[in-house]
Amino acid sequence: MLNIILCGAPGSGKGTQSDKIVEKYGLTHLSTGELMRSEVASGSELGKLIFSYTGRGLLVPDEVTLRMLEAYIETLPADTKGLVFDGFPRTENQAVELEKLMERRGDKTALLLDIHVPEQEVITRLLERGKVSGRADDNLETIKERLVVYHRQTEPVASHYKALAKYEAVDGMGAIDQIFHRIEQVLDKIYA
Ligand code: ADP
Repeated sequence: MLNIILCGAPGSGKGTQSDKIVEKYGLTHLSTGELMRSEVASGSELGKLIFSYTGRGLLVPDEVTLRMLEAYIETLPADTKGLVFDGFPRTENQAVELEKLMERRGDKTALLLDIHVPEQEVITRLLERGKVSGRADDNLETIKERLVVYHRQTEPVASHYKALAKYEAVDGMGAIDQIFHRIEQVLDKIYA
């Protein structure tokens, strides 16, 4: 598999752009946030543990996240072309563990795409989404916590891939198709 990582603050449009990337390049979307929400919805003990973090805007411990991710990857068909990681890795340790896992499997990370959106804009988008998403974490207090967590724990992941020369920044402002066009200019070279 030749994978890409979508990085960006909550509300930067990772999920929306993932759908378009999947459609054009035949990749498989892997959102750790979605995996976690479905575990929470199942009502399992693990789901309850997860919600004690996600409900407060905090990151779920790496051991839990990595276990879920690895279990999911094992269910993928052998001919999977590549993954679009959305919301993962979110800590430098997750990035290191991801690269170890990829190496064990003989897979590769092509690059990290960093979607840039100003903070005021992401807050506006998430509050709008909160009106319809029903997501417990789309309220102002939790959004602010998620942004603090993003700056503190997730920005180092972008630096990690910058140091590996596997990094591209994309302007995440504008219409959805305009942003996707910017992404295509990067991905056309990888999945030609
Ligand atoms: P957003 O990017 O809008 O915050 P996500 O759906 O990616 O939304 O994540 C929602 C929540 O799920 C996060 O705030 C966090 O609690 C948890 N989560 C998602 N991915 C991870 C991860 N890779 N590591 C730890 N926690 C995660």
